[in-house]
Amino acid sequence: IASIHVVGGGLAGSEAAWQIAEAGVPVILHEMRPQRGTDAHKTEGLAELVCSNSFRSDDSSSNAVGQLHWEMRRLGSLIMAKGDAHQVPAGGALAVDRDGFSQAVTAALEAHPNVTIERGEIAGLPPADWDKVIVATGPLTSPALAEGIRSLTGASELAFFDAIAPIVHFDSIDMDVAWFQSRYDKAGPGGTGADYINCPLDREQYEAFIDALLAAEKTEFKEWEGTPYFDGCLPIEVMAERGRETLRWGPMKPVGLTNKHNPTVKAYAVVQLRQDNALGTLFNMTGFQTKLKYGEQAAIFRMIPGLENAEFARLGGIHRNTYLNSPELLDPQLRLKADPRLRFAGQITGCEGYVESAAIGLLTGRLAAAERLGQPLSLPPATTALGALVNHITGGHIVTIDEGPRSFQPMNINFGLFPHIEGVATMGPDGKRLKGPAKSLARKQALTARAKIEMDGWVRAKS
Ligand code: FAD
Repeated sequence: IASIHVVGGGLAGSEAAWQIAEAGVPVILHEMRPQRGTDAHKTEGLAELVCSNSFRSDDSSSNAVGQLHWEMRRLGSLIMAKGDAHQVPAGGALAVDRDGFSQAVTAALEAHPNVTIERGEIAGLPPADWDKVIVATGPLTSPALAEGIRSLTGASELAFFDAIAPIVHFDSIDMDVAWFQSRYDKAGPGGTGADYINCPLDREQYEAFIDALLAAEKTEFKEWEGTPYFDGCLPIEVMAERGRETLRWGPMKPVGLTNKHNPTVKAYAVVQLRQDNALGTLFNMTGFQTKLKYGEQAAIFRMIPGLENAEFARLGGIHRNTYLNSPELLDPQLRLKADPRLRFAGQITGCEGYVESAAIGLLTGRLAAAERLGQPLSLPPATTALGALVNHITGGHIVTIDEGPRSFQPMNINFGLFPHIEGVATMGPDGKRLKGPAKSLARKQALTARAKIEMDGWVRAKS
């Protein structure tokens, strides 16, 4: 059997190589460290954790990343096995001894008879005679390879920074205050004329919001990141620093909108939220990319009328991050449409986080091995955490709405990516209807219970 090449021995590449090897297919794993480093990695170990040592919550009954842990263990994940073996105490989270973990992943791959590890940079597109390649080179992909990829995708399709606006769970928005409407009721391609959720601020609320923005703590760029501000993408706090009215003339402009709950009163400023996934469970705060510290964001955004109880699927951020416009570029099997011998895995596909990167590595490894063995593999159902994550990357994202093409932003796994579930029992043991946190917990438990059954079914169907 001919080898599959995996480029990048991080979280995704290590897991992908393991899955390929375990499927009985030879694999060559190319890692450029230590010959060439990145700005964040410090060692030559495979699966190095560049920052925190946490895989986040391990609760698989009411937490989305905990459910992803469960599915990865069910699928024989190397990253989870070594994470479990090198766990350090961290309450309900799975945190690991980073050196022990990385050394164990490296040793397991080195010892596997189907794995060859080659150290060295792939400085450009992989050689033409490699017929199956997984590119898993992460957020800090080396410039030469990034340029090679750009030559296939076009410059605008491979970003070097993310500029992320906060994303809110729809069911936490108060629609007695907010209302659906597009500016001037304009319906573009795929739109209805009522595509945005609008949150109105009066003058006092606007001034208080600007004061809070100006006073809030910001995250600094790391020295090597530079300051990647580009037109149309300024952080809201930078806009506020340029003048108290700037936001009112920018993303918070109140024009072309009539408050359905209060038609005679003109809002002084409006925050708009735009649908973020095909399911309609998530909405992003339009134009609200920010480098405010995470701890500050929720409190400040909950000052906005209609968002007082907002639950955030992700907070805003701007980071150095190499990632593809995957919904456009990749097919459902994570192959590059422009050159299907190349598959992509990990953070470069537009997922976010150690666990998510490894999860996409796991799936991509299995897909590539199955293809090599002539036994094509179906994708896990979108009701599983892994299926929901892939769906975010390749399919679930809305690409057209009334303002034309949307920008695709990386995301952690979260319950907003799971298809809605009908008929969740919302009665408590006392016969009363559940509300607030109890209702939300019941919904999460129903989603994870369904995901476990569906993942079991997918695994059994294959064996
Ligand atoms: P990586 O783990 O970065 O692996 C990519 C590998 O490819 C690297 O080993 C690199 O050396 C190699 N490589 C690159 N180019 C080439 C080439 N041309 N040829 C050969 N090898 C190459 N996520 C979290 O969950 N928690 C955090 O605290 C966290 N902190 C982060 C901090 C920073 C500064 C950054 C940049 C990211 C952080 N992330 C964090 C996000 C992300 O989940 C991790 O970066 C994760 O490691 C991504 O996994 P990956 O396998 O896609 O990439």
